[in-house]
Amino acid sequence: MTTTTTQVLKNYINGEWIDAKTDDYQIVSNPATGEELAQVPISTKEDVDAGVKAAKEAFKLWSKTPVPKRARILFKYQQLLVDNWDDLARLITLENGKSFKEAHGEVLRGIECVEFAAGAPSLMMGKQLPDIATNIESGMYRYPVGVIGGITPFNFPMMVPCWMFPLAIAMGNTFVLKPSERTPLLANRLADLFKEAGLPDGVLNIIHGAHDVVNGLLDHKDVPAISFVGSQPVAEYIYKSASANGKRVQALAGAKNHSIVMPDANLDTAVKEIIAAAYGSAGERCMACSVVVAVDDVVEPLIQKLNQKADEIKIGNGLEEDVFLGPVIREDHKKRTVSYIESGVNEGATLVRDGRKDEAYHGNGYFIGPTIFDNVNPSMKIWKDEIFAPVLSIVRVKSLEEAIELTNQSDFGNGACLFTINGSNVRYFRENIEVGMLGVNIGVPAPMAFFPFSGWKNSFYGDLHANGSDGVEFYTRRKMLTARW
Ligand code: NAD
Repeated sequence: MTTTTTQVLKNYINGEWIDAKTDDYQIVSNPATGEELAQVPISTKEDVDAGVKAAKEAFKLWSKTPVPKRARILFKYQQLLVDNWDDLARLITLENGKSFKEAHGEVLRGIECVEFAAGAPSLMMGKQLPDIATNIESGMYRYPVGVIGGITPFNFPMMVPCWMFPLAIAMGNTFVLKPSERTPLLANRLADLFKEAGLPDGVLNIIHGAHDVVNGLLDHKDVPAISFVGSQPVAEYIYKSASANGKRVQALAGAKNHSIVMPDANLDTAVKEIIAAAYGSAGERCMACSVVVAVDDVVEPLIQKLNQKADEIKIGNGLEEDVFLGPVIREDHKKRTVSYIESGVNEGATLVRDGRKDEAYHGNGYFIGPTIFDNVNPSMKIWKDEIFAPVLSIVRVKSLEEAIELTNQSDFGNGACLFTINGSNVRYFRENIEVGMLGVNIGVPAPMAFFPFSGWKNSFYGDLHANGSDGVEFYTRRKMLTARW
């Protein structure tokens, strides 16, 4: 498999690619082969300062640029992303490992964010009331917030940054992005294409790195808002630190998503959706299905069909045809997953399918086959923790009420699905589940860009979620004018 030649990545500041002020570099490897793709700088606070300075300077003009003019650049950007769709998808597969088909879908999710942001003239409109009292009018006007800091995870190198910077920038803000140091390549491509679309220098800046860059953004007096997506402990840290520093913050976190299967469900649909949700992107999705709650006598045929479909999955390099299951992101993540499989066995769960038996597990790259545990219960680590890998746990219950009670015990509340053909089951599920994004006969109920991405409980820290009307509120502040003439 030929790949791009190894490159030393630079930071993107004020429209130029600039060497980071550091000697510390990390290897970015292709998870399917283990080969080196690039070296990413672990930048310093000095680099952050330079990025924020450029963004602050650019804000002066960009925030005053008429909204339709800003939107027109977003339209051009959308077209460039469409034109480069296959290349972007290939790059995602190369650095993340997910299948080319999944990567193609991810590019679409990113493009949809840009399309939503291009509606800025409508999204930024205020509200007026001409007569709050005799001869007195009142109006609300929307303005950008300033320099936004964005920190993103490895699992969606295109979609998650696109939840943030296109909308923030369309609203008139400027942006400093710190992509995941494990998948930093795509962000650079996104910046190049935005420049080509006509984005003025300094409006989008990229500082590569890890904790120091994050802390540099959290502590910076010229960064009034932070958007974060990543794991739960880091999200909590980001939320607490940023809010203690007086910033507005949205921090989207980890998950443990349950799919409840009722005895009346269309089993073929349920199995198809669950297989895609549990093993697509190697389970490295915040909306992945990691627990199946099998109600009553659906359990035996369900396990039999899941096992059979899992056996049919093609594992391998995501750039190869028909590969469905790629590698996990790094060797240490593979080891962590194996330790979860061992803990499941030690805690008494039944290992129905062991992903370590698959050939790819023993080759190069960080592969682990589809794994299924039965007889899992809420005292087990494999039920509690987000494993973020192709490991599916099955819990047996007797009723929908019991299934919902179990799901609600989780600390997380990102997604939950119900498979049934009964409308009253759906109503009961919707009204009683303590989770923010629900699917009915759908395995991955991720909302599209024009709706907020609405995790609950430990899956989200903050008030306003990413995307949709929440995103518009997060990236704008309001002025209220009351006037007598
Ligand atoms: P991560 O938390 O390890 O890293 C996310 C970002 O935080 C990266 O840019 C990383 O450099 C930075 N970071 C990591 N540790 C840090 C620390 N101690 N201090 C400061 N910064 C730190 O997450 P990840 O492994 O890249 O991504 C996977 C996680 O993201 C999963 O938990 C997944 O559920 C979650 N996720 C959530 C959503 C959502 O919408 N809720 C979407 C995608 C991913």
